[in-house]
Amino acid sequence: MTQDDNTPAGGEQAARSLHFIEQIVEEDLKTGKYDGRVHTRFPPEPNGYLHIGHAKSICLNFGLAAKYGGLCNLRFDDTNPSKEELEYVESIKEDVRWLGFDWAEREYYASDYFDQLHEWAVQMIEAGQAYVCDLAPDQMREYRGTLTRPGRNSPYRDRDVQENLDLFRRMYDGEFPDGTRTLRAQIDMAHPNLNMRDPVMYRILHATHHRSGDKWCIYPMYDFTHGQSDSLERITHSVCTLEFENHRPLYDWYLDQLGIYHPQQIEFARLNLSYTVMSKRKLLELVRAGHVSGWDDPRMPSISGLRRRGYTPESIRRFCERIGVAKFYSVVDVAVLEGCVREHLNAVAPRVMAVLRPLRVVIDNYPEDQVEEVDAVNNPEDPSAGTRKVPFSRVLYIERDDFREDPPRKFFRLAPGREVRLRYAYVVKCEEVIKDEQTGEIVELRCSYDPDTLGQQPVGRKVKGVIHWVSADHALEAEVRLYDRLFTKENPEDVEEGEEYKSNLNPNSLEVLEGCCVEPSLAEATPGSRYQFERLGYFCLDTGDAASGTLVFNRTVSLRDTWAKIEKKAQKKKK
Ligand code: ATP
Ligand code: MG
Repeated sequence: MTQDDNTPAGGEQAARSLHFIEQIVEEDLKTGKYDGRVHTRFPPEPNGYLHIGHAKSICLNFGLAAKYGGLCNLRFDDTNPSKEELEYVESIKEDVRWLGFDWAEREYYASDYFDQLHEWAVQMIEAGQAYVCDLAPDQMREYRGTLTRPGRNSPYRDRDVQENLDLFRRMYDGEFPDGTRTLRAQIDMAHPNLNMRDPVMYRILHATHHRSGDKWCIYPMYDFTHGQSDSLERITHSVCTLEFENHRPLYDWYLDQLGIYHPQQIEFARLNLSYTVMSKRKLLELVRAGHVSGWDDPRMPSISGLRRRGYTPESIRRFCERIGVAKFYSVVDVAVLEGCVREHLNAVAPRVMAVLRPLRVVIDNYPEDQVEEVDAVNNPEDPSAGTRKVPFSRVLYIERDDFREDPPRKFFRLAPGREVRLRYAYVVKCEEVIKDEQTGEIVELRCSYDPDTLGQQPVGRKVKGVIHWVSADHALEAEVRLYDRLFTKENPEDVEEGEEYKSNLNPNSLEVLEGCCVEPSLAEATPGSRYQFERLGYFCLDTGDAASGTLVFNRTVSLRDTWAKIEKKAQKKKK
């Protein structure tokens, strides 16, 4: 890794002006608000795998800490007990680490604060700031009012402290069924902010928690947990997404009532990507319904999916730096993300030759048993990557697309009677086209080669086209998976009435090519390694199906943004 790649923000950070959160932090550092400390946290709920949106938050939180010499905690917001939590916790840690961030020993769980939160709840009851309410959920909703209509006080609001303490203890002891009682803060049922209308602090839930087991049958709500967790960890800047802006008054209220250390909540706009759904609930639905093969399906916007697809951590960090941090809603073109991985892989991915749709070529004037090792450049962008030997012999495979029997204008590849250069090797000429007698399908080309053209232009004529190839005897067989966008619409939520986002799934998002040929150097490839298949795109050796024994490559991204081309064409047509 170069220095540039090592810093989470890549080389771009220095070039731009400060975003609004950095401005706040710098101002706080100047005024000594937190004694010069910067301490952030990334607080995922372990109810799904992380996605590219989370990466934005991870880069922001860990990035602020790194930039200002501070710390960033990893905190699991595990107030909702759920079964899969363990799997999710493990995947989240793996993904954050893979993205290149380190929380050292600062791995925290909201559930570790349950005792303290319970104590604080009792303290608030004693101070007359909280009460036990017997309203059922639908009644509570009804009492709550709306944005235009104030709420009504719960009939249980004026219970005295002793009764509240007693009922809360009995809630804790497990005397009541789920949903029959709650502990609520006593604030203001006419407050213009609905979150301030006596919000629930605790609910009854007889469920096993992945860490606290069956110790609790009452669980604190997110709002009663998050700020206090921030406070306990002495967070300075509690960065979250805009939907929590309306929760900030409550965040502040709890901390003020408890009179404890008070971090500052700051909201920014979440990442939205075109052609992508981002909510964990929907991603889980795609997994459960089998629309994708799992959370790490290479078409998923999950970190594990992007990793399996061949994305590098550097490219994702670069993307997060490039899109910036702001307070207004926006949708980022997924092509920006693709551009970032293309940029990085162009710099670092070794080039190899692979033929996805093979057409057999026999070079009649090349000696039958001869094999030559030709020199191939590993990466023209990086001379230090050196060269390798690639075997050349009499029978080769080329790409079906690189031959046309009836070539259109400007087709500089192979055609009957025409010459083309085989990359790193000789100029060959197509002498004869062999077809299947029954189907008429082209099954083989008979060619001749010019022995004086190894690495040299032929004398007296110019050969424009260069195509890639693989020696048939030396080729390794591979399966190649080509991915396209998972949704056909820029906004997958844009649907006809009665339909939902799933009706916009792209039926052609996966194309599997079997019987592909790759050059023998790939025998050494380790799962997860990335290559540029010359002229085709960037590919990554799959990590999922290693057991099957076949080489499986996932296409990370094509060499150029083909969608941009298609869209441009469509626009031209319209005009
Ligand atoms: P989702 O809506 O996808 O289910 P979430 O917000 O419920 O996500 P959490 O696990 O609670 O997921 O999120 C952890 C952190 O990541 C939070 O601080 C949240 O604000 C942030 N985050 C989640 N989605 C995005 C996004 N699209 N862009 C930026 N930050 C995000
Ligand atoms: Mg959430």
